[in-house]
Amino acid sequence: MLPEAGSLWLLRLLRDLQLAQFYRPILEELNVTRPEHFDFVRPEDLDGIGMGRPAQRRLAEALKRHRSGLKPKNWVYKILGGFAPEQKESTPPSNRPPCLPEPEGGLKCLIPEGAVCRGELLGSGCFGVVHRGLWTLPSGQTVPVAVKSLRVGPEGPVGTELGDFLREVSVMMNLEHPHVLRLHGLVLGQPLQMVMELAPLGSLHARLTAPAPTPPLPVTLLCLFLRQLAGAMAYLGSRGLVHRDLATRNLLLASPRTIKVADFGLVRPLGGARGRYVMGGPRPIPYAWCAPESLRQGAFSSPSDVWMFGVTLWEMFSKGEEPWAGVPPYLILQRLEKDRARLPRPPLCSRALYALALRCWALHPADRPSFSQLEGLLQEAWPSEGRCVRDVTEPGALRMEPGDLITIIEGSSSSHSPNSTIWKGQNGRTFKVGSFPASAVMLTDLAGSPAACPVHRGSPAQGEQPPGSIEGDRKKEKLRDLPPARGQRMNIPLHRMKGISKSLESVLSLATRPTGGGSSPPELRQARAVPQGPPGLSPRLPFASSSSQPGQPPRERPPWPKREPPNNHPMGVPGATKASVSTGALLPNPELQRKIIEMELSVHGVTHQECQAALRATGGDVESAIRSLKVDQLFYLSSRSRADCRRILEHYQWDLSAASRYVLARH
Ligand code: AMP
Repeated sequence: MLPEAGSLWLLRLLRDLQLAQFYRPILEELNVTRPEHFDFVRPEDLDGIGMGRPAQRRLAEALKRHRSGLKPKNWVYKILGGFAPEQKESTPPSNRPPCLPEPEGGLKCLIPEGAVCRGELLGSGCFGVVHRGLWTLPSGQTVPVAVKSLRVGPEGPVGTELGDFLREVSVMMNLEHPHVLRLHGLVLGQPLQMVMELAPLGSLHARLTAPAPTPPLPVTLLCLFLRQLAGAMAYLGSRGLVHRDLATRNLLLASPRTIKVADFGLVRPLGGARGRYVMGGPRPIPYAWCAPESLRQGAFSSPSDVWMFGVTLWEMFSKGEEPWAGVPPYLILQRLEKDRARLPRPPLCSRALYALALRCWALHPADRPSFSQLEGLLQEAWPSEGRCVRDVTEPGALRMEPGDLITIIEGSSSSHSPNSTIWKGQNGRTFKVGSFPASAVMLTDLAGSPAACPVHRGSPAQGEQPPGSIEGDRKKEKLRDLPPARGQRMNIPLHRMKGISKSLESVLSLATRPTGGGSSPPELRQARAVPQGPPGLSPRLPFASSSSQPGQPPRERPPWPKREPPNNHPMGVPGATKASVSTGALLPNPELQRKIIEMELSVHGVTHQECQAALRATGGDVESAIRSLKVDQLFYLSSRSRADCRRILEHYQWDLSAASRYVLARH
């Protein structure tokens, strides 16, 4: 399909270089309609359309000359252009990871619209829907992909959503890591689409909360996921990025044993000497996952991602439960700081791993381990495994048969009286967790063969009895979890929340409550007295990029007037006021904004100013304004009169692509 943008400049440029024969392939195969699009075209792409390297060099020089007198006009490139190069520069070449093998045909940042077909719906995010898709490479090879499309509702996309979407593209474009979801490219169609690596097994959160008969995930696999996550996060940190939305909902399963970090809509570059990103204004944040400094000052950094890693660990071992469920979000900070409360140890989580989570939740960011350190700490906390050596059928004990692989969650050996020691573990055959006599299991080394002497790699959590001591075991009689810390969460499973989190409900209700007068409910009056986190947090979803699976209710979106205005900042920096609207046009009227967005989406490549002018000329009638812009586009593309262009467009029912193809074929 031909791009819907005035591409006369390209034809002229190519003609001057005597490369006019590449006009169609560049338009149709590479989807280049603006000079800025060439930023995403690689030499291999031009090779692919048959352009030789000398011709490519001539084209590059001509483009440089052409662009020296041009400023990016389109909102897409304002945002992409303002963000992507910064990331590129911030990465020392030596830190670049080795490139993963690319699908045949190479990574194309710009993918022609016709090369991707969409299939079933995989999920729905805050600013887009995700479909399974098939990407056909120029060679004819097909690659299964996930296609995230920017949602275009009756209200159109708004600045925040569009900004997050494009920021996600520009961040992902520069990332290559085995545990970071890969971006294949961007389709400059309507709607805008991100073509990503497919994670066929969906989100980790969905897997954790899958009802029976799906078996729970083995503890060792959860530990493997944690190690993969720590590696991916260390990589993001080395690229100077902070994720800000680490949670199991944003970890995707590429295979049964591989997770990938996804959802980069909230990623920000770490600025300044302090390596922090401080929010510039109200934006939704995932409260229950956030570090105290993020809640208090809107400050995000690698240590605040480490805090979120701890919460993600907790989710994994709690079968995807909601952290701080039942605690209103405005009280979470108080609980963390004043009460020093922490999420309790989940039954599946060993003391050693819980101790690691507690270190991630150190109040002062500097006291938290780095992700690189976490990789080592996870190794130390890795659970031991053993083979069952006899039938265990005692009432109340974890049932096992000889040969069963048992993961030890709590326990160590006592050479003096092994028969009196009770361990806690998970049976790898049944996935059940429970206590059993230590004598029933022979510990194995990491390679799976029986160890010469039993090992325990865990270390007790601060203030807890060493888990392996006989004394400790006797005191507890059976291995039991410590009672939850003072005033901790009510055990409300996520599935009972009908797809919407309690903390989210609280945020929304907090936002809609009256702000003045004496009629506020007591808990709200109390909430006003406690620190609230970033000032004026928006009532939008706190889980800005949380998602729903097909079959679950989609994430709610706030009503239109509560959203940020479109194009309010080229970098999507939150809190931009009207005075900082970068298009140079003040748009105080939401209705006008909505109309302009609708026009920008209908006529690809038009600017704000062009839309405003067309609206003025048509007395505010969007449909007529869109048609008038299409006539203009066709007029500039061909040598025909405006009246002719209108007739051609009418003939093609205002399909600008079809009309463009017609006029170009007769050029
Ligand atoms: P997001 O908008 O990134 O939050 O994605 C919404 C949902 O779509 C996720 O929770 C996943 O269930 C699904 N999804 C997103 N990206 C992919 C992908 N690359 N592969 C498979 N499913 C995905």
